[in-house]
Amino acid sequence: MSGKMPAIFISHGAPSLIIEDCPTRDFLRGLGKEIGRPKGIVSVSAHWTTTEPRVTINPHPGTIYDFGGFADELYTLVYPAPGDPLLAGKVLSLLGQEGIAGGKDSSRGYDHGAWAPLMLMYPEADIPVIQLSVQPHLAPDHHLAMGKALAPLREEGILILASGAATHNLRDFFGRALDEPPLPYASEFTEWLKDAVINNRRDELLDYQLRAPQAIRNHPTPEHFLPIFVAMGAGEKGELLHDGYTYGALSMAAFKW
Ligand code: ZN
Repeated sequence: MSGKMPAIFISHGAPSLIIEDCPTRDFLRGLGKEIGRPKGIVSVSAHWTTTEPRVTINPHPGTIYDFGGFADELYTLVYPAPGDPLLAGKVLSLLGQEGIAGGKDSSRGYDHGAWAPLMLMYPEADIPVIQLSVQPHLAPDHHLAMGKALAPLREEGILILASGAATHNLRDFFGRALDEPPLPYASEFTEWLKDAVINNRRDELLDYQLRAPQAIRNHPTPEHFLPIFVAMGAGEKGELLHDGYTYGALSMAAFKW
Protein backbone atom coordinates (compact mmCIF):
# COMPACT_ATOMS: atom_id res chain seq x y z
CA MET A 1 0.00 0.00 0.00
CA SER A 2 1.66 3.22 -1.11
CA GLY A 3 -0.51 6.29 -1.42
CA LYS A 4 0.81 9.66 -2.39
CA MET A 5 4.36 10.07 -1.18
CA PRO A 6 5.90 13.31 0.15
CA ALA A 7 8.99 15.09 -1.10
CA ILE A 8 11.56 15.27 1.69
CA PHE A 9 14.77 17.20 2.28
CA ILE A 10 17.10 15.85 4.91
CA SER A 11 20.47 17.00 6.19
CA HIS A 12 22.65 13.88 6.11
CA GLY A 13 25.51 15.15 8.30
CA ALA A 14 28.75 13.19 8.54
CA PRO A 15 28.75 9.53 7.39
CA SER A 16 29.51 8.57 11.00
CA LEU A 17 25.93 9.55 11.89
CA ILE A 18 24.94 5.92 11.21
CA ILE A 19 27.09 4.60 14.06
CA GLU A 20 26.78 7.48 16.51
CA ASP A 21 23.98 7.96 18.99
CA CYS A 22 22.32 11.33 18.35
CA PRO A 23 18.80 12.76 17.91
CA THR A 24 19.09 12.97 14.11
CA ARG A 25 19.88 9.26 13.89
CA ASP A 26 16.74 8.55 15.93
CA PHE A 27 14.78 10.89 13.67
CA LEU A 28 15.93 9.14 10.48
CA ARG A 29 15.19 5.72 11.98
CA GLY A 30 11.63 6.83 12.66
CA LEU A 31 11.17 8.66 9.36
CA GLY A 32 10.88 5.57 7.18
CA LYS A 33 8.09 4.22 9.40
CA GLU A 34 6.36 7.59 9.44
CA ILE A 35 6.41 7.89 5.63
CA GLY A 36 5.51 4.28 5.01
CA ARG A 37 6.75 2.12 2.21
CA PRO A 38 7.17 3.82 -1.18
CA LYS A 39 7.22 1.86 -4.45
CA GLY A 40 10.53 3.45 -5.31
CA ILE A 41 12.84 6.26 -4.24
CA VAL A 42 14.44 9.04 -6.26
CA SER A 43 17.45 10.11 -4.21
CA VAL A 44 18.87 13.54 -5.02
CA SER A 45 22.25 13.61 -3.29
CA ALA A 46 24.65 16.53 -2.88
CA HIS A 47 27.45 14.04 -3.47
CA TRP A 48 26.67 13.48 -7.12
CA THR A 49 27.41 16.60 -9.11
CA THR A 50 27.40 16.67 -12.91
CA THR A 51 27.21 19.28 -15.66
CA GLU A 52 23.76 18.08 -16.75
CA PRO A 53 21.22 15.92 -14.87
CA ARG A 54 22.11 12.23 -14.74
CA VAL A 55 20.16 9.25 -13.43
CA THR A 56 21.53 5.88 -12.33
CA ILE A 57 20.31 2.92 -14.39
CA ASN A 58 22.48 0.25 -12.79
CA PRO A 59 20.06 -2.52 -11.64
CA HIS A 60 22.49 -3.55 -8.86
CA PRO A 61 24.23 -0.41 -7.66
CA GLY A 62 27.31 -0.78 -5.46
CA THR A 63 27.95 1.18 -2.27
CA ILE A 64 30.42 4.06 -2.74
CA TYR A 65 32.67 5.13 0.16
CA ASP A 66 33.16 8.71 -0.99
CA PHE A 67 34.64 10.01 2.28
CA GLY A 68 37.95 9.75 4.09
CA GLY A 69 39.19 9.69 7.66
CA PHE A 70 36.20 8.01 9.31
CA ALA A 71 35.91 4.80 11.36
CA ASP A 72 36.86 1.55 9.54
CA GLU A 73 33.41 0.12 10.25
CA LEU A 74 31.81 2.61 7.85
CA TYR A 75 33.80 1.20 4.92
CA THR A 76 32.29 -2.24 5.47
CA LEU A 77 28.64 -1.15 5.34
CA VAL A 78 26.72 -2.15 2.22
CA TYR A 79 23.33 -0.93 1.06
CA PRO A 80 22.14 -3.55 -1.42
CA ALA A 81 18.84 -1.97 -2.57
CA PRO A 82 18.12 -2.71 -6.22
CA GLY A 83 18.16 0.00 -8.87
CA ASP A 84 15.17 0.71 -11.08
CA PRO A 85 16.04 1.42 -14.72
CA LEU A 86 12.35 1.90 -15.60
CA LEU A 87 11.94 4.58 -12.94
CA ALA A 88 15.17 6.21 -14.14
CA GLY A 89 13.77 6.34 -17.68
CA LYS A 90 10.56 7.89 -16.39
CA VAL A 91 12.53 10.57 -14.52
CA LEU A 92 14.43 11.46 -17.71
CA SER A 93 11.22 11.63 -19.69
CA LEU A 94 9.50 13.86 -17.10
CA LEU A 95 12.52 16.17 -17.07
CA GLY A 96 12.52 16.18 -20.88
CA GLN A 97 8.85 17.22 -20.97
CA GLU A 98 9.88 20.34 -19.04
CA GLY A 99 12.75 21.05 -21.41
CA ILE A 100 15.47 19.71 -19.11
CA ALA A 101 17.85 17.41 -20.95
CA GLY A 102 19.52 14.64 -18.98
CA GLY A 103 21.37 11.37 -19.44
CA LYS A 104 21.92 7.92 -17.98
CA ASP A 105 24.77 6.50 -15.95
CA SER A 106 25.03 2.73 -16.09
CA SER A 107 27.91 2.13 -13.69
CA ARG A 108 27.49 4.45 -10.74
CA GLY A 109 26.50 3.08 -7.31
CA TYR A 110 25.04 4.79 -4.23
CA ASP A 111 27.08 7.61 -2.68
CA HIS A 112 26.91 8.20 1.07
CA GLY A 113 24.49 11.12 0.68
CA ALA A 114 22.07 8.47 -0.59
CA TRP A 115 22.89 5.27 1.27
CA ALA A 116 23.70 6.59 4.74
CA PRO A 117 20.25 8.05 5.46
CA LEU A 118 18.53 5.22 3.56
CA MET A 119 20.26 2.66 5.76
CA LEU A 120 18.57 4.30 8.75
CA MET A 121 15.21 4.94 7.07
CA TYR A 122 14.79 1.65 5.21
CA PRO A 123 17.33 -0.81 6.66
CA GLU A 124 15.86 -3.78 4.78
CA ALA A 125 17.17 -2.21 1.55
CA ASP A 126 14.35 -3.84 -0.42
CA ILE A 127 12.87 -0.72 -2.03
CA PRO A 128 14.32 0.22 -5.46
CA VAL A 129 16.39 3.42 -5.46
CA ILE A 130 17.71 5.58 -8.25
CA GLN A 131 19.89 8.65 -7.92
CA LEU A 132 19.50 11.96 -9.71
CA SER A 133 22.50 14.31 -9.76
CA VAL A 134 22.66 18.03 -8.97
CA GLN A 135 24.29 20.76 -11.07
CA PRO A 136 26.28 23.13 -8.84
CA HIS A 137 27.03 25.54 -11.71
CA LEU A 138 23.28 26.02 -12.29
CA ALA A 139 20.99 28.19 -10.17
CA PRO A 140 18.44 27.07 -7.57
CA ASP A 141 15.60 27.65 -10.06
CA HIS A 142 16.97 24.88 -12.31
CA HIS A 143 16.70 22.52 -9.33
CA LEU A 144 13.23 23.79 -8.47
CA ALA A 145 12.19 23.08 -12.07
CA MET A 146 13.54 19.53 -11.79
CA GLY A 147 11.41 19.03 -8.69
CA LYS A 148 8.31 20.40 -10.43
CA ALA A 149 8.89 18.01 -13.31
CA LEU A 150 9.11 15.05 -10.92
CA ALA A 151 6.05 15.96 -8.81
CA PRO A 152 3.71 13.52 -10.66
CA LEU A 153 5.84 10.60 -9.43
CA ARG A 154 4.59 11.25 -5.90
CA GLU A 155 1.07 10.24 -6.98
CA GLU A 156 2.53 6.91 -8.11
CA GLY A 157 3.98 6.15 -4.70
CA ILE A 158 7.51 7.34 -5.46
CA LEU A 159 9.38 9.11 -2.65
CA ILE A 160 11.50 12.12 -3.63
CA LEU A 161 14.34 12.12 -1.11
CA ALA A 162 16.64 15.12 -1.37
CA SER A 163 19.78 14.77 0.74
CA GLY A 164 22.15 17.62 1.50
CA ALA A 165 22.73 19.98 4.40
CA ALA A 166 20.84 22.95 5.81
CA THR A 167 24.23 24.43 6.71
CA HIS A 168 27.56 23.05 5.55
CA ASN A 169 30.77 24.82 6.54
CA LEU A 170 33.23 21.90 6.64
CA ARG A 171 36.13 24.02 7.87
CA ASP A 172 34.18 24.67 11.07
CA PHE A 173 32.91 21.07 11.27
CA PHE A 174 36.36 19.52 11.68
CA GLY A 175 37.63 19.35 15.22
CA ARG A 176 34.30 19.91 16.93
CA ALA A 177 32.33 17.54 19.16
CA LEU A 178 29.18 15.85 17.87
CA ASP A 179 26.95 17.53 20.46
CA GLU A 180 28.46 21.02 20.38
CA PRO A 181 25.90 23.82 20.46
CA PRO A 182 25.29 25.57 17.13
CA LEU A 183 27.66 28.25 15.95
CA PRO A 184 25.72 31.54 15.92
CA TYR A 185 26.12 32.09 12.17
CA ALA A 186 24.78 28.57 11.49
CA SER A 187 21.69 29.06 13.65
CA GLU A 188 21.11 32.49 12.12
CA PHE A 189 20.91 30.94 8.64
CA THR A 190 18.85 27.97 9.84
CA GLU A 191 16.25 30.14 11.58
CA TRP A 192 15.89 32.16 8.38
CA LEU A 193 15.58 28.96 6.36
CA LYS A 194 12.91 27.42 8.58
CA ASP A 195 10.84 30.60 8.53
CA ALA A 196 11.16 30.98 4.75
CA VAL A 197 10.22 27.34 4.07
CA ILE A 198 7.28 27.23 6.48
CA ASN A 199 5.91 30.51 5.09
CA ASN A 200 6.66 29.44 1.51
CA ARG A 201 8.76 32.48 0.55
CA ARG A 202 10.12 30.82 -2.58
CA ASP A 203 11.47 33.93 -4.24
CA GLU A 204 13.61 34.65 -1.22
CA LEU A 205 14.76 31.05 -0.98
CA LEU A 206 15.75 30.96 -4.64
CA ASP A 207 17.79 34.11 -4.02
CA TYR A 208 19.27 32.77 -0.76
CA GLN A 209 22.85 33.67 -1.66
CA LEU A 210 21.93 37.36 -1.51
CA ARG A 211 18.99 37.36 0.88
CA ALA A 212 19.76 34.83 3.61
CA PRO A 213 21.96 35.87 6.54
CA GLN A 214 25.45 34.36 6.40
CA ALA A 215 24.59 32.42 3.24
CA ILE A 216 28.07 32.08 1.81
CA ARG A 217 29.66 31.28 5.16
CA ASN A 218 27.17 28.43 5.64
CA HIS A 219 27.40 27.28 2.03
CA PRO A 220 30.84 28.20 0.64
CA THR A 221 29.86 25.94 -2.27
CA PRO A 222 26.18 25.37 -3.15
CA GLU A 223 25.99 21.60 -3.77
CA HIS A 224 24.72 20.65 -0.30
CA PHE A 225 21.94 23.22 -0.41
CA LEU A 226 20.70 22.65 -3.96
CA PRO A 227 18.85 19.36 -3.24
CA ILE A 228 16.35 21.29 -1.08
CA PHE A 229 15.06 23.03 -4.20
CA VAL A 230 14.25 19.72 -5.89
CA ALA A 231 12.10 18.67 -2.92
CA MET A 232 10.51 22.12 -2.74
CA GLY A 233 9.70 22.08 -6.45
CA ALA A 234 7.96 18.72 -6.09
CA GLY A 235 5.56 20.09 -3.45
CA GLU A 236 3.35 22.98 -2.41
CA LYS A 237 3.94 24.04 1.16
CA GLY A 238 6.81 22.93 3.35
CA GLU A 239 6.82 21.89 6.99
CA LEU A 240 9.64 21.32 9.44
CA LEU A 241 10.23 17.64 10.25
CA HIS A 242 13.37 17.82 12.35
CA ASP A 243 15.69 20.39 13.88
CA GLY A 244 19.05 20.16 15.59
CA TYR A 245 22.80 20.36 15.03
CA THR A 246 25.85 18.16 14.84
CA TYR A 247 29.42 19.45 15.31
CA GLY A 248 28.13 22.98 15.85
CA ALA A 249 28.44 23.77 12.15
CA LEU A 250 25.96 21.34 10.63
CA SER A 251 22.27 22.10 10.97
CA MET A 252 20.39 18.81 10.64
CA ALA A 253 17.09 20.48 9.73
CA ALA A 254 14.74 18.39 7.61
CA PHE A 255 11.59 19.41 5.75
CA LYS A 256 8.64 17.76 4.10
CA TRP A 257 6.49 18.95 1.19
ZN1 ZN B 1 27.51 15.53 2.50
